[in-house]
Amino acid sequence: MSTQTQDQTQEQVVGRYTDALMNTFGPPKLALVRGEGSTVWDADGKAYLDLLGGIAVNSLGHAHPAMMKAVTEQLGTLGHISNFFTSGPQVELAETLLALLGGDAGPAQGKVFLANSGTEANEGAFKLTRRTGRTHVVVAEGGFHGRTMGALALTSKAAYREPFEPLPGDVTFVPYGDAEALAAAVTDETAAICLEPIQGEAGVVVAPDGYLAAARSIADEHGTLLWFDEVQCGVGRTGLWFEHQRSGVVPDVVTLAKGLGGGYPIGAVVGLGRAADLLQPGNHGTTFGGNPVACAAALAVLTTIESDGLLEHVTGLGEHLRAGLAAEPRVTEVRGHGLLIGLDLAEPVAAAVVDAAQAAGYIVNMPTPTRIRLAPPLVLTRAEADAFLADWPGILDAAWAAAKAGG
Ligand SMILES: *Cc1c(COP(=O)(O)O)cnc(C)c1O
Repeated sequence: MSTQTQDQTQEQVVGRYTDALMNTFGPPKLALVRGEGSTVWDADGKAYLDLLGGIAVNSLGHAHPAMMKAVTEQLGTLGHISNFFTSGPQVELAETLLALLGGDAGPAQGKVFLANSGTEANEGAFKLTRRTGRTHVVVAEGGFHGRTMGALALTSKAAYREPFEPLPGDVTFVPYGDAEALAAAVTDETAAICLEPIQGEAGVVVAPDGYLAAARSIADEHGTLLWFDEVQCGVGRTGLWFEHQRSGVVPDVVTLAKGLGGGYPIGAVVGLGRAADLLQPGNHGTTFGGNPVACAAALAVLTTIESDGLLEHVTGLGEHLRAGLAAEPRVTEVRGHGLLIGLDLAEPVAAAVVDAAQAAGYIVNMPTPTRIRLAPPLVLTRAEADAFLADWPGILDAAWAAAKAGG
């Protein structure tokens, strides 16, 4: 057995990481040991305000009592079965998702498949679209749908895709937000249009007004499924249960993951209307998907968002944060809804901003060399947001100075 890491410095832990883990992510920026609320601590005892939330995952922050209770109680009662059997949390979670998708109109008419991650949810949805008897899928440039072969085929970034070609084919990429380009790409042979209502990995690019509605009518014209990937923007992150609800458009397929489990791995495919019954026995499966512990975690997340009024909180705090960030002249644009926030910097110094923020005790993320993304826990407080806004100009000063010094 290996020796423990708990009394080691960050440098020691990161050194051991480098020797023992595949180099898929590059060297880790920190070795973290503990979290509470929206704060995490590293192996040297330094605290950071976590404004990335595990990439839009830690909906309730770290070590939330409701999640700890749900997960430990469920693990102590019934932790894993298999999909030969079902459990209360699984059924309750599926019903809750349908109820939230339906909103005021009552539960959505649909069915849920539970998986373990975002890419896996998208993989299931991709297979579902093949059951229409069609294979063509239209997706957007800048879109990100995951790293497994199917989801990767739908992902726009060439550097992610090309080393793994050939991938499942018959995929057309169109510029995001351009309804005319979408209309030109979709035919009577198109199985699905797959879009993120807000493109997260691209740096929080919001669908222009009317775009999702145009996608709905283009899909209807051709008997094509409309599939929204809400893996990043769903489950309260933008101040709505699901971001597409802002448009009033009803999709045929919705995929969820990241924030759904609040840090416990889970993904979901929701098929609405005719999409509910396209996958039939033998078509798809998973060993872990829908296990009682993951479902209990997700139910705790959904219940707490509701009981603590987090949708309203997220809407108000997001507006406050965006206004504060936009007040800085070195920020040229701020985008997003709720607590999914992207901003453009006047110069390509995003890497230096991430480092300067970390030195100042804040975790932020750079989706591109000119963009910063924030996706903090939904429980981030106003005081925490204000502390960051107060330090933000100094972080930019440090980043600009470091970028100049580095050439
Ligand atoms: C993160 C993400 C995925 C992939 O999720 P994983 O859990 O990393 O597999 C898919 N779609 C979107 C929109 C995402 O942001």
